[in-house]
Amino acid sequence: MNSRRDFLQKLSLGIGAATLTDLTPGIAAPVTSNVPADKQLRVALMGLGGYADIVARGMKECKTARLVGIVTGTPSKIPVWKQKYGIEDKNVYNYENLHEIKNNPDIDLVYVITPNSLHHKHVLQVAAAGKHVVCEKPVADNAKQAREMIAACEKANVKFYIGYRLHFEPHTKELVRMREAGEFGKIMHVNNYAGFKIGDPTQWRLKKSLAGGGAMMDVGVYSTNGARYCTGEEPIWVTAQESKTDPVKFKDVDETVTFQLGFPSGIIANCGCTYNFNHVEMLRLMGEKGWAEMNPAFGYGPIRGTTHKAAIDQPDVNHQAYQMDGIADAILNGKPDPNVTGEEGLKDMLVIDAVYESLRKNGAKVFIKK
Ligand code: NAD
Repeated sequence: MNSRRDFLQKLSLGIGAATLTDLTPGIAAPVTSNVPADKQLRVALMGLGGYADIVARGMKECKTARLVGIVTGTPSKIPVWKQKYGIEDKNVYNYENLHEIKNNPDIDLVYVITPNSLHHKHVLQVAAAGKHVVCEKPVADNAKQAREMIAACEKANVKFYIGYRLHFEPHTKELVRMREAGEFGKIMHVNNYAGFKIGDPTQWRLKKSLAGGGAMMDVGVYSTNGARYCTGEEPIWVTAQESKTDPVKFKDVDETVTFQLGFPSGIIANCGCTYNFNHVEMLRLMGEKGWAEMNPAFGYGPIRGTTHKAAIDQPDVNHQAYQMDGIADAILNGKPDPNVTGEEGLKDMLVIDAVYESLRKNGAKVFIKK
């Protein structure tokens, strides 16, 4: 049975090739950047699971961001990460001494890659330590928590970003550019689906206490965020339906959710997400003058897209490297924030809250609370 990691990695032929050398034992990350060390954003990763490893490998390609530290509750991972990524002892933390990171002048930002329901607590801790923070999607369990995280980061005067790597991905950026340039005309309809068949029934993603929800929390974020960047509007209402074909495996969380987003201009986006079938990552935008289709649209790449004119011709890049360099550039060089701030995470969370409310109310129309 495929796991999420298998699914995303199979989509990633380029990264797969790099993986073979990156995993060679005994070889620390080469420093490839030409940017002087004092002009690099120094990053610590918190939660050394599957995605953290993908981020760490991607960051070997970074020019402006550099992986220098780790936060882990699993001591056995420390020597492995030190060896693979050249981490120094002084930049190694656990969940108990995390607050001491505030005294470390060699770490600028902590990237929270822990299970969803820990994001709120961990972001508040990083903000209290006075470090900038990137938090993985979904930003939190609900919009209330997301607002608290934004407020805590503002109060601590630190930047707060969400790991929305697609906002740095060239095919996705080109789709948004074309839409903004009016090349599709007035947008009339959007159709998005994201998902995969989840494996191990004991994993945290199937426990509401750690995941906050099921497919909707995890991959519904892609459909939601995609509908927002395809329309350039904020939805005002939601209706949602769940199909549950395996009530034992999915007793605690949602399995497959279809949902409709109503936008101020009258557009309705038809969206879906699943934890129970594979190879689902398509996005389709229909405008008065033209259309665009991305498939695959949400994995680590290569992303592929076509429009009514031609294929979207853009380079395949390492999403994690582009994301971290983009964030580093904004922080270090005072560039405008990329569209991945905590506010962007909050906007998706408002939709997700409304989807769950609609599910609780048997598909009733729920107006999104701002
Ligand atoms: P994972 O299970 O592989 O890793 C989770 C890590 O958190 C593990 O190292 C685990 O030890 C640690 N952890 C700390 N406290 C824990 C606790 N109380 N219970 C369980 N684990 C605990 O998961 P993952 O796939 O790396 O996902 C982590 C986060 O990254 C999730 O929020 C997920 O949504 C996000 N993610 C994002 C992308 C993306 O493309 N942006 C892709 C995959 C995962």
